[in-house]
This record gives sequence, structure tokens and C-alpha cells, in this order.
Amino acid sequence: MQEIIRHDVMPSVALKGIVVFPGCTGSILLGREASIKAIGTVPEHGGRVFLVPQLDPSYDRPSGDRLSSVGVIAELLQDVRLQGGEHQLLVEGICRAERLSDAYGDDGLSCLVASIEQKKTDPRLNSILVAGVRAHLQIYSSKVAKLDSNLLDELDRITDASSLCDNIASAIVDSFEDRLEMLAEADVAERCGLLINFIKREVEARALAEYIGTLTQHALQSRQKELFLREQLAVIRHELGEDTHGEYFDRINNADLPRNVREELLSQNEKLAKIPFGSAELTVIRNYIETCLELPWQKYTNTPVNISEAKEILDRDHDGLSDVKERIIEFLAVKQLNPDIKGQILLLVGPPGVGKTSVARSVARATGRAFARVSLGGIHDEAEIRGHRRTYVGAMPGRITDALRRAGTSDPVILLDELDKLTRDMHGDPTAAMLEVLDPEQNVAFRDNFIEIPIDLSHCLFIATANSLDGVPAALVDRMEVIHISSYTDEEKLSIAKNHLIPKQIKQNGLKRSQIRFTDGAIYAIMRGYTRESGVRSLERTIASVCRKAAKTIIEERQNSITVSEKAVERMLGHPKYRPDLIYKKDEVGTVNGLAWTSVGGEMLRIEVLSMPGSGKVELTGSLGDVMKESAMAAVSYIRKHSKELGIDPDFHKNLDLHIHVPEGAVPKDGPSAGVTICTAIVSELTGRPARRDVAMTGEITLTGRVLPIGGLREKSVAAYKAGADKVIIPIGNMPDLDKVDSTVKDALNFVPVESIGQVLIQALV
Ligand code: ADP
Repeated sequence: MQEIIRHDVMPSVALKGIVVFPGCTGSILLGREASIKAIGTVPEHGGRVFLVPQLDPSYDRPSGDRLSSVGVIAELLQDVRLQGGEHQLLVEGICRAERLSDAYGDDGLSCLVASIEQKKTDPRLNSILVAGVRAHLQIYSSKVAKLDSNLLDELDRITDASSLCDNIASAIVDSFEDRLEMLAEADVAERCGLLINFIKREVEARALAEYIGTLTQHALQSRQKELFLREQLAVIRHELGEDTHGEYFDRINNADLPRNVREELLSQNEKLAKIPFGSAELTVIRNYIETCLELPWQKYTNTPVNISEAKEILDRDHDGLSDVKERIIEFLAVKQLNPDIKGQILLLVGPPGVGKTSVARSVARATGRAFARVSLGGIHDEAEIRGHRRTYVGAMPGRITDALRRAGTSDPVILLDELDKLTRDMHGDPTAAMLEVLDPEQNVAFRDNFIEIPIDLSHCLFIATANSLDGVPAALVDRMEVIHISSYTDEEKLSIAKNHLIPKQIKQNGLKRSQIRFTDGAIYAIMRGYTRESGVRSLERTIASVCRKAAKTIIEERQNSITVSEKAVERMLGHPKYRPDLIYKKDEVGTVNGLAWTSVGGEMLRIEVLSMPGSGKVELTGSLGDVMKESAMAAVSYIRKHSKELGIDPDFHKNLDLHIHVPEGAVPKDGPSAGVTICTAIVSELTGRPARRDVAMTGEITLTGRVLPIGGLREKSVAAYKAGADKVIIPIGNMPDLDKVDSTVKDALNFVPVESIGQVLIQALV
């Protein structure tokens, strides 16, 4: 990376505790005779001098090994003679130089030096180094010491890694040893590494200082007196040579602990007694012992499951969901027959608000177990699940261990919420940790990095939830019993509202049943005008809001009771936020009902096509422009190929422009699968045949016109049902999914399975 290019004998100055970097200015006070003599031979404003750091500051005339082997050749910018005979120099470093030999003579110290000129760094490496160093500098500036903006601007302008590294080192590294090490390192990459390590050390030191600061403050606030007295007592006993068992001895012995845990905690307790008063390690070990003592080692509820009672509880808590309840009861029955059966994990899959969490809570109640929820959404760090090692500043146990602590028993129902939202990044793969948690072979001795003693998770009942199976790693799905909970129809929502949500909210808002009544019309109005969801979460929230307003009216207007009607809903909640997505009143040319799958369930997705004289351009607008471009292109190609049979001018692609528009819906679509819809809309527009208003469709097409299966059929059919469609065209490959479609929806709709776009057109066009 560097090459030695020039040898020279140079006037030299030995520096005590000072390192000047190439490209940086420095101010030096000279007092020693040899130095003053040497500088006397150097012309001001441009003369050159070799500045060599002195390794041992106790020598007045250091030479040989007492001088650093690397120094810097510098330009003398200014030499000011002070009154006492001292010289104040202003210098600017030019390049690193190796000291080959040195000698004292009439002109003070002079050295034979070989300058080390920096070769140009490979541009790719250079930019990587610059980016790395800059990123760390930012961390340094935000976490350790805010840097002056002028300095930051100046550093911003430097694009060469070597020079950037030297300038930063010059500005922020204080210690002589660190500066010397960085000066002596001629290799740019190595030097940047040294600088980055230095910054990391500083950041860690600062975090540690803060952590200790907060701990001390917290401890002083909360247990100030006790801690102070205990520590004094420990010091006094130690001084008196008294043997004590340590502060946790009794608590550890009185706790119900497995042998290995007791032994480990006692040994930590002994260690505690030997740590000097005031050491940071005291807090770490105390925190560890306290955490371990809080865990429910070998505490079990052991309540046998009464199946009919469990069924009653599930029925009492939830409306409908008969399949789900039945699968859960079967699951519990198997568990009761064979309590030692391992590795049974439920995975509830369904859109938000359909009762996944609340079903899991009911399972806990029905089995007499404690309940703890672990939210997995957005976790990307393995340590969140498995805990941090104790040596790590601010270490904590992972979320699974914490759930056990909160539950207070070793066999709770643990809800692993949003399993599909686990993500992975450079901090490791949380999925791997989850696999270990759920694997019956491994979870008998789950290792939390913080606790270190193996924890038995095999008695826990894990229930996971996800919005869709797509985001759940396959390895996890393999271990689970998947139960789908689908979107609710309006009728189901009505029943849930009447039997559960309204009674619950009446109670929570301090009202009596006799004081408020909701008409069915009002409930439908709330559902359709103020919420748009698959589940009932917003519905519950909106009902709560109506209850609060009703309570206010009852008190303010001294009324005995209130009937919430459709009109009252609009008075209380204002104009409806949503209008129902209903089918049109008559058949139209170029407008076709598609179906989409969104995060809150299904949605009707109307696709519109217009043609106009032009040159064959296809324009797509609306929320899905890019996603659907390919489907549109495939549709156009298919139509060109089959224009004759379809009765379309074969030159339409030369003299017509097509504009395909997908109106923006309220929610982003996950899976439009709109190939068939686009194709039908284009054919309708080009042939002038209207598309049937009561037909909705979903499916992708291939270039040959085959219709491919899609996802989310259940949600899409609910949307078609709500919009008032009669017929739903679906890919033949989706036939098996019809089993999962709700029976009300199935009864109301006529599902037409198709294999090719030709069949779609027959069904959909008038
Ligand atoms: P999820 O976990 O699926 O997002 P929640 O369990 O949080 O949904 O449910 C939201 C609310 O709706 C809860 O108050 C729950 O009790 C209620 N709920 C959902 N489905 C039903 C149902 N079938 N019967 C009664 N209440 C329900």
C-alpha cells in the first residue's frame, strides 16, 4: 500500500506526549536546547523538520529506542520566540517518515529518515473505508461528544480515506499511545480499523458510564437506605474478618429451586461477598440472582383439563368459530389423554381482530393455566428471544424467559403473537431461536444467554398467531397445528356485537343493560359506515365510543335510557367514513368487478378500461400501476392473438390506445390477482359488450389464456358477498379452497370454476 521513496538527513525535534498527523496542523512549545538548536536551522514559512515522538518522557536527550521509529515530516509555518527563550511553533504534518538513525551534534538532533509516501488506495477500498469511518464518526458525535459543525464540514470535504482517518484521529483521539499507534500504522485499512476500534471503545465506555449512572441513581432513589446499610454492613463484616453467608443465602435456601439452580445461585452469592464495595459487578450479579429467584422454577398449576368445562368457557367467550373451537377441544382432549405428549403447538392464522388473541386467552382459562403474551412483531435480533449475555451492558433475559417470569408458573399458555412478523438481519436469525423454543427435543433445556442455567419449556402450551402463513418460516409451520380463522361476515359480526362486544362495552363504560339498547340497524350502520375490517376490533372500539357518548347524554340530560338507532349513530359519530362497495345498478362496457386481498380482508376491486384512437399505447393508472403491468401486457397479447374469435379489429394494437385504471381503494392490496379481470375489461371495451354487473372474478392468466389459482379466496368471496354479487368466477385450481369459505357466503354466491379466459368471457360478458 505504501512505498519508501526518499532518504534524507533532517533537523529533528523530539516531542513529549505530542503526535502531529500528516495533513494536520499542530502547535508545539519548544524548550529543550537540542530542539531549539535544530529549529534554528529550519527556515520559517516552508522549511521542513522531522517531528519524532519520544517514547520515554523522562530523558532530556532521547535517542535510539527511546524515540518512536515513525515520525512525521512537517513544514514550519511559524516560529515565535517567547520571552523565556522558548519557541512556540506552528507546524503542518506532510507525510509519515521512518527514523533510520539519529545523532546529536552542534545543530541539535538530526535523523536519517525515509519518508513513507502514501500510494493511492484502490478506489473501491477507499470508498468503503471512507463510508465506514464516517458512519462511526457520526455515532461518536451523537453518543460520545458532539463535534463542532465547522470541523464536521471540513471532514466532509475529505474524500481520501488515509487523510480522513488522520484528520479525525488528530481531532478526537486524546491519548498519546493511541495517537502514536495510529501514526505508526502506514497501512490505510489497518489504520481505519484502529480508529473505528477506538470509537467503539469510547462509545462503550460512555454507555457503561451512563448505565452505572442510572443504576446508581435508581438504586439510590428506591432502596437507598437499605442498600447503603447493607453495603456498609458487608464492609464492616469483611473488615472484622467475620464469615457471612452473603446477602442472598437465606432467600436462595428458602426458595423452591431445582438443585442445579440452587447450587449456581449459591455460588454467585459467594462471589458477591468477595467483590469490593462499589464495583459495577455487584449490580450485575445482584440483578442476575434476583432475576433467577423470580423465575417459576418447578412451579406448575397441574390442573387437569375438564373438557366439557373447557368447551363451555370457549363457547361463553366467543361467538361462532365452531371449527376453531372444535379443533381446540380435540387438541385439549389429546393433551388430557396423554399429558406427556410433546411438541403440540397451535398456530392461529387470520386477519387482525378475528379473535386470535382472545381465543388463546380462553384456552388459558379453560385449562386453568396462566397466560403470557410475547409480541414478536418486528423482532430482528436473536437476543430479544434468547437474551443477552451478562457481560453485555444492560443485559436482560429474552422475551420467552420474561414471559415465564410474568406468568409465574412453568406451564403457562404462551401466546407468540405475530409470528409472521419476525424478521432477520445482521444480529442473527430469530427464527433459529424460535425453533429451539418450540422444538420438544430442545426446549426441555432451553438456554437463555442471560440465565445460562437450562430452563424447561416443555410444559408450556404455545399458541402462535399470524395474519398469513406467507410470512411464517416453513420450518416453524412444520411444527405447528395450523387453524385458520377467517374474516367475519356482517351477520357474524352482528351476532358477535350483540352477544359479546356490546354487553362488554356497556359494563366497561359504567352503564346498565337497561340503560342502553342498540337496534340491529344501528349495528349494521356502525359496521358498514365506520369500520372496514375483517375482524371486529374497530367495531368494538366504535361501540365503546357510542357507549361513552350515551353515558354522557344519560347523565347530562337526565334520561333513563337510550335507544341507539341508525339515526342516533350518525348523530353521535358524524357522517359515515365508508360507503359500501356495492355492485353497479346496470351492466357497463369496460368496467369489471375484480376481487382483491388486503391486510384487512377482501375488497371489491373494480377495473375500468377506456380505448381511444392512438398508436397502441397501454397506460395503467391507479394504486397498482406497476404490479399489474405484467398482467395487462399478457392480456393484450392474448387478445391480439385471438382477436378474430373475439370479434375484435386485429389492428386494435396499432390504432387504439388503452387506458386501464384501478381506482385507489382505502387499503393497499396484497394480492390483486387481476389478470382475468383486466382481460375481461379490455375485451368488453373493445367489443362493446357490457360486463355483467353481478359477476365478480379473480384469477391470473398465462399468455395462452389459462387461468391460474390465486390466494385469499375466503376473504375475496366475503367481499363479493358484501358487495351484492351473484356469481364469482374462480380458477379451477382454487376449488379445494371452497371448503374454507363460510357457509353463509357459499349459500349466497354461485361459484363458477374456470380453466381458461374463454370460459370467463362467456360467463362475464352480456
Ligand atoms: P386478534 O388477536 O385476532 O387480532 P383479538 O383477539 O384481539 O383479535 O380480538 C379483538 C376483539 O374482538 C376482542 O375483544 C375479542 O374478544 C373480540 N372478538 C373477536 N372475535 C370474537 C368472537 N368470535 N366472539 C366474541 N368476541 C370476539
